This record gives sequence, C-alpha cells and structure tokens, in this order.
Amino acid sequence: MASKQQSASDEEQRSNETTEPETALETARRQLEQAATHVDVDGAAIERLKHPAKVHEVTVPLERDDGSVDVFTGYRAQHDSVRGPYKGGLRYHPEVTRDECVGLSMWMTWKCAVMDLPFGGAKGGVVVDPKSLSDDEKERLTRRFTQEIRDVIGPTKDIPAPDMGTDPDTMAWIMDAYSMQEGETIPGVVTGKPPVVGGSYGREEAPGRSVAIVTRETCEYYDYPLSDTTVAVQGFGSVGANAARLLHEWGATVVAVSDVNGAIYDPDGIDVTAIPSHDEEPEAVTAYAAEAADDVTRISNADLLELDVDVLVPAAIGNVITADNADAIAADIVVEGANGPTTFAADAILEERGVHVIPDILANAGGVTVSYFEWLQDINRRKWSVERVHDELESEMVRAWSEIRDEVEERNVSWRDASYVVALSRVSDAHEARGLWP
Ligand code: NAD
Repeated sequence: MASKQQSASDEEQRSNETTEPETALETARRQLEQAATHVDVDGAAIERLKHPAKVHEVTVPLERDDGSVDVFTGYRAQHDSVRGPYKGGLRYHPEVTRDECVGLSMWMTWKCAVMDLPFGGAKGGVVVDPKSLSDDEKERLTRRFTQEIRDVIGPTKDIPAPDMGTDPDTMAWIMDAYSMQEGETIPGVVTGKPPVVGGSYGREEAPGRSVAIVTRETCEYYDYPLSDTTVAVQGFGSVGANAARLLHEWGATVVAVSDVNGAIYDPDGIDVTAIPSHDEEPEAVTAYAAEAADDVTRISNADLLELDVDVLVPAAIGNVITADNADAIAADIVVEGANGPTTFAADAILEERGVHVIPDILANAGGVTVSYFEWLQDINRRKWSVERVHDELESEMVRAWSEIRDEVEERNVSWRDASYVVALSRVSDAHEARGLWP
C-alpha cells in the first residue's frame, strides 16, 4: 500500500511508464479486424469501415481579449452514416489530432449501432487548451468554429455533443450560431444543451448511469450480489462520480475513487456522496483525503487499477490498462466508463486471464442514448420528465446488455467481441440493404 504522502509527480511518472503507444485509431482498427473474424461480412466493407467517410479540417481564427489574433485548427471526422445522421462529441484539448477524431468517430458508429440508435458515428474538436481561454474567448472560438463547419452539421446531417473541454454552454453557443445563420431556432443541431434551450433532463448523468446499470446487470449475471460487491472507480467526473454514487445507492461498496492527482482507498467503503464530483469542484477527491479520517488511505491512480476488488471502473482517460499492467489487474469484472481505457494488447491479456471486460461502446452508451432522447424532444418540441428519461434509459440499457449477453453465450466470445458483432452486423446489414452507389 502506498503512503499518504505519495506525490503526484511519482504518480505521473508511473503512469507515463505504463502507457504504451497505441492511438485510438490503431485500437479501433484492431478491434474492427478482430470483430470481422466473428461475422460474415465482405472484406471490402470492412476495409471501408476502417476509414472515415469524410474528415473536415478547418482553420479557426480567434480574437483574444487583448485584441491579438490566434489561429487554431479544428476537425470533424464523420465515419459512417448508413443508419442515420452522424453523431458524436466535440473536444477542446491541446492533443486533439485528426487520427484521434477518426478513431473516436469509429467508436461512435459502433456505440450507436450497439444501442440500435438511428445514428452514425462522428467526432471532432479544436486543438486548443480550454484552460487558456477566457469565457468570452471560448464563446468566440465556438461561434467561429460553428461557422466553419456549418455546412456539414445539422439535425439531419451531423449532431455534435459535449466532450472533453466542452460543456452545455458550448452547445448552447453552437445552437445559437447555427440557428442565427439558418434564420430559425434549430435546437436539434446539437445535444447536451442546457434544458432551457432544448436540452434533456438527465443528459449530464446519463453515461455514469448507464455504467452503473451495466455493472448491476453484469454483477447479477456472474452471481455477485451488489451488497457484497466491491468497486474501484478511476476518475470522479461526470462518468465516474455518477456511476460511483448510483452503485453506492444500490448497495455496492465503493472502496476507491480518484482524480488526476491520485486516489483514495478505504476497504470498508467510501461515502461517495460526500465528495464533490469534478464538475462540482475539480480535483476534490484528493482534497477530501486530506480532511478525511485516518482509515482513508491515499494511493496512486496506478495502484487503484490494481486493487483486489470485484469490479474496476476506469472512468477517467484512455489507455490506462495496457500490456504493462494487465497482468496485475486483480478485479474480476472491468466496466469501461472512459472511452478506450484498455489497449488492444491489454484486452487480449485480460481475456486470457478470464477477466470480464464490459466495453465502453456498451457501458457508457447512456450518454448518446439520452442525446438521442434529446434530439427526439427537440424535433417534437416536447420535453420529457427526468423520470421518463431514467425509465427509458433503464429499459434501453437492459435491452442492449441482454442482446450482447445472448451473443456472449451463443458464440462464446468476450463482451467486447459480442458488442462488435452486434454493431458490425447492424451496420453492414444496412450497407448491404442500401447497396453501393455506382
Ligand atoms: P470529467 O472531466 O468530468 O472527469 C474526469 C475525471 O478524471 C476527473 O475526476 C479528473 O480529475 C480525472 N482525471 C483526469 N485525468 C486523469 C488521469 N490522467 N488519471 C486519472 N484521473 C484523471 O470527464 P468525464 O466526462 O467524466 O469523462 C471521462 C471519460 O469518459 C472520458 O474518456 C470521456 O471521453 C468518457 N465519456 C464521457 C461521456 C460524457 O458525456 N461525459 C460520455 C461517454 C464517455
């Protein structure tokens, strides 16, 4: 067990050592190739799906508050739209790349297909550190970026949503900039908006809620009564905190949670309702540890991943379970709250060791599912109550989870392969039914 004084820099050092160079695009392509071995799909169709339909690259000039002008690059990768308009988040992050957008757009195609939503996959972003922008600068950047991608987005074309570095306010600015140019209010152009301009109640907590629902179903399936189940959650943001709080409410014992500065561990369980989430107060987990009773131990994020718990929920960033630490993962079930937390190499090791990995494209799909509910509400101009959102999400998640479970049982494959089989079959069947434009 690490000491309470373990420094953040030790942790960063360790996390750098355990990160292998596997990009989101490489992981997404390898996963697709592996899934293709389980389904009878034409090789040319698979080859096409390894590539995006389109990637838009735009230049976004921004007038800073001091009057100077900086120029940023923005992307919108559109992977596949055979089942409906493109759908996926927009990130503001200094490490956004074209390839990352493409890899993440592929995952969105599968995520929407796993949930049987009438959407395809997209992802985009601007290469910028949002912390370096004032609120006014962020708004101006967002409005200009919207103008640059205006022709390729729209409620029946491509519907962005929040992601890292963007939030409901960002979506409201996009909706406004788009609507002003179109000459009418078009709330369905983005999801994840504030409810006052057409956002859905329950959207913010939806990915964490779906992680909790999928964890509950999986625990039940493998005979882990939630009241006897221990859970460690990496990341205490929108996904991690909401998942941890619901699992705690449903009787599980959450023994560890973390933020970017480190983790806290208490084998008797942590009252996760007492800790503010990242959104409520950034990096509050480690601050809580400083004030908490002695039985809460400070450990590193890397140690959290290796705790001997029943369920591990990596819900912070990608590539945290790698070939370097996969052998040391002691949990029996891993539920992927983050996008791409497990590298392809690590996945093979976990499968070999009999660890059940519930993939991101199923586990955190509550976000895009409630985005779909939001889009329906926008188009119909009719708001749903939060109770209705929760009820419909519950039934959609349980239905999708059950369909994947049937594939796991029938084909004797991992949960990831089963999810890909379901998604790939739906996408390739749609391609086949529509045919190839000559
Ligand atoms: P968030 O910003 O709300 O919270 C992130 C949390 O992770 C914070 O507690 C932060 O301190 C911690 N963190 C950041 N860097 C870390 C690191 N290097 N090591 C350990 N912890 C670190 O983010 P979020 O919205 O909860 O998203 C988390 C993950 O879930 C991302 O991979 C995101 O793409 C994915 N996801 C988010 C949504 C959504 O709608 N919010 C939907 C689906 C998937």
